[in-house]
Amino acid sequence: MIPQSKIDEIIDAARVEEVVGDYVSLKKRGANLLGLCPFHQEKTPSFTVSPAKGIYKCFGCGKAGNSVNFIMEYEHLDYIPALKFIAEKYQIEWPEVQISDEALAEEKRKQREKESLQIINNFAEQYFAANLQQDEEGIAIGLSYFEERGFRPETIEKFKLGYAKDNWDHFTQTALAAGYNQELLIKSGLIKQSEQGKLYDAYRGRVMFTIHGLNGKPIAFAGRFLKPDPKSPKYVNSPETELYHKSNELYGLYFARNAINKAGYVYLVEGYTDVIQLHQAGVENVVASSGTSLTENQIRLIKRFTDNVCVLYDGDAAGIKASLRGIDMLLDAGLNVKVMLFPDGEDPDSFCRKQGPLGFSAYLDENKQDFIRFKTSLLAADAGTDPIRNAELIKEVVQSIAKVPDAFKRAGFIKETSAALKVEEQLLITEINRLLRNKLSQQAHTTIPTPEEQPLNYEQEIKQLIDVQAQDYQEKDMVRLLINFGHLPFEGYQNVAHFIISEIALDEIEIENQLVHEVLNETHKQLELGEPDVKKLVNHMNPEVSKFIAEILAMQYDISPNWEHRYDIIIDKMEDKYLEDIDSAMNRLKLKNTEKLIKLNKEEMLKAEQEDNFELLNDCMKVHQHLLTQKSKLSAKPGTVIV
Ligand code: ZN
Repeated sequence: MIPQSKIDEIIDAARVEEVVGDYVSLKKRGANLLGLCPFHQEKTPSFTVSPAKGIYKCFGCGKAGNSVNFIMEYEHLDYIPALKFIAEKYQIEWPEVQISDEALAEEKRKQREKESLQIINNFAEQYFAANLQQDEEGIAIGLSYFEERGFRPETIEKFKLGYAKDNWDHFTQTALAAGYNQELLIKSGLIKQSEQGKLYDAYRGRVMFTIHGLNGKPIAFAGRFLKPDPKSPKYVNSPETELYHKSNELYGLYFARNAINKAGYVYLVEGYTDVIQLHQAGVENVVASSGTSLTENQIRLIKRFTDNVCVLYDGDAAGIKASLRGIDMLLDAGLNVKVMLFPDGEDPDSFCRKQGPLGFSAYLDENKQDFIRFKTSLLAADAGTDPIRNAELIKEVVQSIAKVPDAFKRAGFIKETSAALKVEEQLLITEINRLLRNKLSQQAHTTIPTPEEQPLNYEQEIKQLIDVQAQDYQEKDMVRLLINFGHLPFEGYQNVAHFIISEIALDEIEIENQLVHEVLNETHKQLELGEPDVKKLVNHMNPEVSKFIAEILAMQYDISPNWEHRYDIIIDKMEDKYLEDIDSAMNRLKLKNTEKLIKLNKEEMLKAEQEDNFELLNDCMKVHQHLLTQKSKLSAKPGTVIV
């Protein structure tokens, strides 16, 4: 657990304009700063930072929050890791976790080994790159290979492509002469030792791809053999080290992360050269699983950055069918999956070279299709009219649909699949509900009783959603007033905040929105210490609360983001009538609450009636009368317009 004092220290140090300023170039505009939003594509800046309020807000995409929210959003970190990230920026010491001496020593040893391996890899990266550019053999074989593929010099430089000489121990000798430790060189996988104890290079006569970690540093290498030789594998990869865990990495992610943030999705390809070709074509939100099938950890890594994946396939049917399972894994993780198939015999690399950047991007946009649609048509073509294979096909597709987390999307797929396969919708729904129930009962380790088979009612789901939001509105509006006017006087109370808290407690108004609940609790605590403090809310421990507050604070700019003067006037006007506003907002909240109580009481009444419980029925009638009187009183008050 991190002590609160440490969290406060970090938050106090973190200036929102500095934290954001590391990522976005900000220009002064009145009291605020303005820049291009890092979360969506834009040409005119609408991303505003308010140093005074300690928040940022984008008027294009609506993202808002404090420094910690920004780091969470941009770096895709949880709350505590985001705090740690900021602590590092400001060189604030992070509290050490208490662990045993042996564990600590082991941890330190691993850390040292990691650092040493990093240094060796940095050296190797430079060595291979220099071979490609300066060595006669490197230029003749390596560079010409990359040039033949159409790689431009700046691409070769960016991805740190290199060449390993066709020589027994040139790298080994160079590294040892430069003073690198033999044991660590072996651990890094860059050199090997024969049974006779002779040291030799692991990569010989290969073009080299550097695999970068999320921090952009070289953590591993892959060497591609250029001569067709059945005795040598086409690729040689670094072994697992303290620095490199193959199943945790995605090739190209370091170069893709900004573009993924902006585009909101990622392309998944197979090989290193696919990633590089796409980059050259201007498509930068692309990563590769490096030839292996996707792992759980790689999927988790994707999910840190985006929920939307588009898998790019070569036009080879057998290969596609083999990888359908891997894509089901993406669906299992709750990702939205699209698929794009290249024309027969083409892969992203070859296709990119033929089409050029523009043609390629256009092809991507036109030919992306939904995975489930893709899978259905692929399998349907295969099954033909064979009834047994068709039954299998339906089962197979239904399994994928059941993995889609969003109920509305599921409904859409059910409709489509039913049309495409000429199957009754109801049949698909029944099958999917059965799968979903099985999944739920597996998760709960209990059996959920089978209810009567009923199609999911989506209209009802939408209605509930809207109802909840309407209820929400009154509560959120109260927070808006609390934040803007909480410190101002209110007759008979310490201040406005005190009035709001007291009224809600006195009338036993049940707050449904958890965030509003937390805001009120925090304000209550502050009032006991003195004045309400908006800064404390902006930097609330719960990042959801801080985002919520930032959004409300930023609502004020919404009036006119670049028009400070006008904004001041409007706020002045708002202040003039704040007492009225608070009074009517409180009435609306009470009215909502009364209506809720009436509804609950009615249900109770109905139950009493069914059970012939006349005593309870009598009580309910009295409560009903009382609530109705209360409702009409509240409705009669001026300004109680129901939103
Ligand atoms: Zn934006």
